[in-house]
Amino acid sequence: MQQVLPIAGVELLSREKLDACTHCGLCLPTCPTYSELGLETDSPRGRIYLTNAVIEEESSVPIGKEFAKYIYRCLDCRACETACPSGVHFGEIIEAARAIYEMNTDRPWYQQILRDLVFRKLLPSKENLNLLFTLMWLYQKTGVRTIVQKTGILQLMGRLGEMESMLPSLPNPLLKSEIREFMPAKGETKHRVGFIPGCIMNQIFVDTNLATVRVLNENGCDVFIPSRQTCCGALHVHNGEYETAIELAKQNIQAFDLEELDAIVINSAGCGATLKEYDVLMQHQSSDYRKKADLFCTKMVDISKFLGSIDFVPPQGDINRRVTYDEPCHLVHGQQVRNEPRFLLRSIPGLELIELEESEWCCGSAGIYNITQPEMSKQILERKMKYITDTDAEIIATGNPGCIMQIQAGVRKHKLPMVVMHPIDLLDCSYRNIDPFVN
Ligand code: SF4
Ligand code: SF4
Repeated sequence: MQQVLPIAGVELLSREKLDACTHCGLCLPTCPTYSELGLETDSPRGRIYLTNAVIEEESSVPIGKEFAKYIYRCLDCRACETACPSGVHFGEIIEAARAIYEMNTDRPWYQQILRDLVFRKLLPSKENLNLLFTLMWLYQKTGVRTIVQKTGILQLMGRLGEMESMLPSLPNPLLKSEIREFMPAKGETKHRVGFIPGCIMNQIFVDTNLATVRVLNENGCDVFIPSRQTCCGALHVHNGEYETAIELAKQNIQAFDLEELDAIVINSAGCGATLKEYDVLMQHQSSDYRKKADLFCTKMVDISKFLGSIDFVPPQGDINRRVTYDEPCHLVHGQQVRNEPRFLLRSIPGLELIELEESEWCCGSAGIYNITQPEMSKQILERKMKYITDTDAEIIATGNPGCIMQIQAGVRKHKLPMVVMHPIDLLDCSYRNIDPFVN
């Protein structure tokens, strides 16, 4: 399809942001897709060039399939941002480029229906998510899944079959009712914090959310979890769905009593990076929203960074295991949080932390990248699994739901005797003196 003029969405990207790139190429060796494909168009510099060219109408690159191929093959892992000496905000550029594509392109009807279903009907609706995940839990628990797997039908279902096999064992849906609007500190209240349980996170890893609240309570935190909050919009931002993302951000900003809270905590790195950048998302909204978004961003913090910033209560229970730590891209590159998760793991008595080679390299999960770009995602995961195998650890700790599921898939494929856990689950086990392998 040919470019439509004037191009919608260009206001999302200031010229200043694009011009910050000096084309030095220092980011190229840190880019997983460039490393796999060796193509300039699959590098950060190439993608910036393409986006610039489309906006400037100076190239033969129309806003069409070729443009989409390169901007969607990017993992949005933001390793290039960490490497860039000129401070280029690559995440903002690639996300705006995708929004520009979506605003100026008519996708085929079946893709429009699917995107509408996922981005507007499912993710923002707790009721619809609850229904879907209750049905999937029944599918797993009643033995239907075992029968389906034995028939081999999943292998014939292509991507859908692969997605099914990636889904971990789901928790009892009733567990979600244990997340209440207010969960008080153990003992004296030292901090008042909001908590964002997330949408998918709360469906698949509600145990980790409950562990997070227990850890916060243990550290003297009154925890507030307003039910008015909704999906953070990370998957929307990553996939060019800006208008819905803005609506979700507005709802979340208004859900919390910002003046009353010391911090708003999240345990999902991907969501956290988007939530911390609501000020960018709100840049063209009313001044009232912009002010609220600024305040929201100053309070938004990853759980590991929050615990590292307070009078942290060291856990006492021994966990005599070997753990390695894989860094979620949206924590290490998106939020520049490196030391705090390691500090928490090192605080656990008996736990031996083995450093992982290339811990900052993407695992290939990248939101829904493993669904939309399965082959590249698998290639990138293989590189990660090689280094994970070399650690000989018993536990792989990582703080993002997508990374947990992706690495679990790698562990299953390679038949490794390893479990994948969120660092907070380990901390919670130590506080409660529980063996993580038993529970
Ligand atoms: S994004 Fe940064 S590191 Fe990469 S080419 Fe541009 S200026 Fe250089
Ligand atoms: S975000 Fe990741 S995949 Fe995309 S260009 Fe940057 S380093 Fe490469």
